[in-house]
Amino acid sequence: MSIKTHHYNNGEITILWQPALCIHSGICFRGLAEVFDPRRKPWIEMGEVTTTAIVNQVHKCPSGAISIVSNPGMQ
Ligand code: SF4
Repeated sequence: MSIKTHHYNNGEITILWQPALCIHSGICFRGLAEVFDPRRKPWIEMGEVTTTAIVNQVHKCPSGAISIVSNPGMQ
């Protein structure tokens, strides 16, 4: 069974969002509301937030619903 995945890219990294895995803990939007806002569409927008801040927040997701991949050519 495949899990539906959405992709959000800021030119350096891509956030992968797997809604079926989200347990709605709120950790992401309480920690970094500029990027994660469930009232907005799309609810993930990276804007001017640094890649480091985004990566640090994504790593706090307790369910693995959001994860990071580096874009080609990036570390
Ligand atoms: S931190 Fe992870 S599990 Fe919690 S609301 Fe955000 S995506 Fe869902």
